[in-house]
Order: sequence, then structure tokens, then C-alpha cells
Amino acid sequence: MRKIAALILICLLFALLPACSPADEEGTDIQIVTTIFPLYDWTRAIIGDAEGFSLSLLLDTGTDVHSYQPSARDLIDIQNADLFLYVGGESDEWVEEVLAQSHTETNALPLLPLLKGYAEELTPGMQGYADGATDEHIWLSLVNAALSMEEITKALIDLAPEAAESLTKNKNDYLLRLAELSDGYQAMMDHAAYHTILVADRFPFRYLAEEWNITYYAAFPGCSAETEASFETVATLADALVQEKLPVILTTESSDGALAKTIMQTAGLDVPVMALDSMQSVTSKKISEGYTYLSDMDSNLTILQTALGND
Ligand SMILES: [Zn+2]
Repeated sequence: MRKIAALILICLLFALLPACSPADEEGTDIQIVTTIFPLYDWTRAIIGDAEGFSLSLLLDTGTDVHSYQPSARDLIDIQNADLFLYVGGESDEWVEEVLAQSHTETNALPLLPLLKGYAEELTPGMQGYADGATDEHIWLSLVNAALSMEEITKALIDLAPEAAESLTKNKNDYLLRLAELSDGYQAMMDHAAYHTILVADRFPFRYLAEEWNITYYAAFPGCSAETEASFETVATLADALVQEKLPVILTTESSDGALAKTIMQTAGLDVPVMALDSMQSVTSKKISEGYTYLSDMDSNLTILQTALGND
């Protein structure tokens, strides 16, 4: 029902928009609009000091990726964009409606279909996933980050061929930093005393876990809408905590910690609870304080080092 309501809202909002928005109302810069923070941050890194680009992020108020609905202002920004970047997963169903209703042709680039060969490889057999559903949390894989950087760079060069050299250099510099981070994750696995994590929460970290051969127990598959874990789930997770002797319970950044507490009570154990940050509710304040994709994945590495028993 929520989805239908959101789609109706989009139609109503479009009815209120002027039939033709001047494409250059924001000046002569190339306008790039992104939905979620990782796409914004990658694009920001590729642009670097290159001039003539204006970049904006739609989800910058901490709204959860899965409950976002575009405002009238967002729709205007998307219509006026020279490039609109989005993931193209289940949470982006509203985008199709926006593009269909748009008064102008939007140069839209969904990343998920471009990564699909890699993304699908991870999907079969995942409990709780509908057949054919692809996990949309692509940004939590460093490999996907690198592939996305390549695709975004190509799209930017198409718009500004004169900036190709600096865009390519910035992208290559970033790929080196991704490779360094990847070395850190590999070193973590080389020194891991445990190869299993327990996440008392939604589970957007599937790509991250599978990229590093970390096995996982999670309360919900992906970001399932369920908010209450069943008795069976609690019992299974409590049993796993005991059997695997795990040193830490993990959650996502949006957890209130209640489920982790219930699991510990059921298990009769008390272990630290640590939050991995899946970058699904980022604020502009946080970004202005220096939060980046790389800093986030580096913090996640530190937490995983503890969870996997690195000395
Ligand atoms: Zn999610």
C-alpha cells in the first residue's frame, strides 16, 4: 500500500510542476543529481577540482533509503539534471514512475543493471529473497565501488569530454585508495580467528560478507520490512552466539540495540554490541564533517577486525 501511495504522490507532484522547467535555471554547470550517499561521494571524488560540475544528493537528511519519497523540489532537480545517478533496486521503484512522468528526457544511469553479472552471482539460494531479486546494497562491496567508479567516470566524460584527463586521473587515484582498503580487508581475513558474524538487525551487508568469505547469521534477510524478530529467529541467533563463541554482536547504524539485548539474554551471555554503518541514512551535517565512503568502510573494517578476532 505504501508503494502505491508513493506513486500516486509522484503523479500529483508532477501535476503541480511547470510543464517546462528551464534546463539552465541553475547556471551553465553540468547538473548531476544522485539518490544515495555512496553514489554522491564517488561522483564527488571523480569530479575533484574539475570545474563546471554541480553535484547534489537527494537523500541528505538522514531519511532511510527504504522509506524515502521525493519532494517536489527533488522532482524538479531530477528533471533538470544532465545526469541522474541511482542504484535501480527495489527501493528505487519510484524512479521509474518519475522518469515516466517527467516532462523532459532525463539522462538517467542506474548502476545495478551495469553490475548485474557480478551482483547475480551472489544471489542464488539466499533465504528470504524472492526469485530473481537482486540485493540492492551494491555499495557495500569494494569491487562494486570500483566498477561503479568506472561507469560514473564514463558518463561524466560523455558530458564533458574536455575534462576527461582530470576525471580519469581522479578516478584512478580513488581506485588506488580502494585497493589499499581492500588490502586492509584481506589482512583482516588473513588474521581472523573467526569467520562468522552475527548481525542482530536487518542485513544490508551481504555483498561485504560474501566478498570476504565471511559467513553470517542475521535477523532479517536484506532490509526486509519486518521489524520484530520471531521467537525462532531469536532462538537461532542466541544458539549461534553460544555455539560459535562469537566475541561481538553486530547491528546496523539505525539499531536501537533491543534485539541484540534480547539475544544476549536468551543466550545467557554478555558481549559488546557494535554497529557497522551501511550508509543508508546519511545527513548533510555528517558529510560536512568529513564523512566519506572510504572513511566509513575503514571504520567498518576496524569493527570487523574486532568481530573476527584480529589481535
Ligand atoms: Zn537497505
